[in-house]
Amino acid sequence: MKKENTTLRAFRQYSGYNPKYFPLCLLQTIFKNASFFFSLWMTAKIVDALYEGMEKRELYLLVAAALAGILLIRSVAAILDRQVETALEVLENHEAEAFYRKALGLDYDKIENPDIRQIRRKIDENKHINEYGVIRMRTMLLLMMDSLVNLAFSAVLFTEMFSLMAAAPFQWLSLILLAALIASVAGGFLSGLRGNRIWSTYLNDVSAMFLKENRISQGYKVSGMDNRIYRQQPIINELYQKSAMEHKKAMLTGFGIRFYFLEAPSAVFSWITTGLSYLIICLYCTLGAFPVGSVIKYVGYLRKLTESIQILLDTLGWIQENEKFLRDYLAFFDLENDMYQGSLAVEKRSDKKFLISFRNVSFRYAGCDDFALEDISLDLRSGERLAVVGMNGSGKTTFVKLLCRLYDPTEGEIVMNDFNIRKYDYRQYLDIFSVVFQDYNLLAVPLGNNVSCAAAWDQGKAEQLLQEVGFGERYREMPKGLKTPVYKEFDTDGVDLSGGEAQKVALARALYRDTPFIILDEPTAALDPIAEAEIYAKFDEIVGDKTAIYISHRLSSCQLCDRILVFHEGRIVQSGTHQELLADETGKYYELWHAQAQYYA
Ligand code: ADP
Repeated sequence: MKKENTTLRAFRQYSGYNPKYFPLCLLQTIFKNASFFFSLWMTAKIVDALYEGMEKRELYLLVAAALAGILLIRSVAAILDRQVETALEVLENHEAEAFYRKALGLDYDKIENPDIRQIRRKIDENKHINEYGVIRMRTMLLLMMDSLVNLAFSAVLFTEMFSLMAAAPFQWLSLILLAALIASVAGGFLSGLRGNRIWSTYLNDVSAMFLKENRISQGYKVSGMDNRIYRQQPIINELYQKSAMEHKKAMLTGFGIRFYFLEAPSAVFSWITTGLSYLIICLYCTLGAFPVGSVIKYVGYLRKLTESIQILLDTLGWIQENEKFLRDYLAFFDLENDMYQGSLAVEKRSDKKFLISFRNVSFRYAGCDDFALEDISLDLRSGERLAVVGMNGSGKTTFVKLLCRLYDPTEGEIVMNDFNIRKYDYRQYLDIFSVVFQDYNLLAVPLGNNVSCAAAWDQGKAEQLLQEVGFGERYREMPKGLKTPVYKEFDTDGVDLSGGEAQKVALARALYRDTPFIILDEPTAALDPIAEAEIYAKFDEIVGDKTAIYISHRLSSCQLCDRILVFHEGRIVQSGTHQELLADETGKYYELWHAQAQYYA
């Protein structure tokens, strides 16, 4: 099968985000150029009329017709301007949406995969900082469209001018004019080609420079508070200055200067051509072959003609240059999910009885040599409260990610009610879990939507849960109740939540789903001691008949659990109740417990 041209494919995909956009642009371009050609044409007519001593009344009529025509064309062009702007907004919205839909639809392991993150970052930076990829394609296509429309208009005047010349004496003058035009376009084209070559040699350096500046400026914003405390400004200023120096050096000694020398000959060519056009056209006027107004008309249009051909040739070079960025862009859309999607329905059990077993499960992250989890075997009994403890990096979060099938094991299997979890319908399997991750996210939408994760919510249930997780007092301060927007991004009436308050809302959200499993990864890390104590006191009531998995560094809280798993270097090294584990003085739990307990003694 023949491979489709990259730009063509990217154009088909991109224009599909709003099929109205490019046709509207074409219409707008036609009217814009019509306005230019019409005023040129009418001005020439008026000059002719003045020269020929036209009667005043007729002259006024001619001027009025010119003004009315221009007004009409410009009005249509202005209306089209608005339409094009709106169409572009829609197109860009849909394009961004498609990009994020693709990203969110990818298997989770691909979202975290360092290579794929790099592709996304590259696309993002190329698009927003250097404006390569689809943005460059769009601007080039619009320029091309403009040139082609111009050429079409010019063709009419070109035919008119050369047929007048052909009928006049000194026909060889028209050949000189034609030759000058061709030479000017060719000169421009050659310098353009050379320019493109220079540009593409330096393209990587230039992009790298822009990216660096962007990263510096982002770093500058993010660390606003630290900046003040640690007086980081001098470091950042130095980075900026260094970058500015590099820029200056490149412009003065590198490609900048080479561009300068390239542009000079093409400017001289164009100057000579314009001079020649004036000379030859004036000469034809004096010979009586052209009406006087033609000086304005033909010189104006000849300039536009050469400009258009020039731009057309330049854009062709740019479109080719842009292909490599489009290839990156399309490669992202070409990523395919390969996680096995099961079809087995997950039984809807009101008694929430699900038995999940890990059988000799090991897991290694993409691009890593070491296993993050090794040979994990355990049964999660229905309704159990399980605590997972261990030092940073011991594999606790990875264990949760495997349980929720964000990743599949590298070795071994996870089984639910006798079937490998891969066999279950993926969506249905995910629906049996609620998780409060350490880096949970609330959305800038009303509180009710945040709790219910849906367009509507059950008022009584949501309010009761917010009360249970200790958000009651804050909730009562909110005049709009569940309709209160969270955060101020979209609404100045929105509320900013402290870390602890947001964590309570995230907890209420997890409970609202009422799933058989609830997993809490450091759920009280941001809470004050009183709020934390309140949650622990109500832990049993809050969790109800769900199976709860609870990751915590505060070992005192693990006493609430039926069983504690101690992770160390990717393995489960101990398992038992608080009392059993503490009895083993050589065990990891004993060590962890005493490291903390000494401060409470
Ligand atoms: P814990 O939750 O106990 O702090 P994790 O499960 O987050 O530990 O991490 C276990 C190991 O896996 C660590 O060595 C960590 O560096 C590594 N790891 C975690 N996430 C990733 C990832 N997305 N890619 C590569 N390695 C990871």
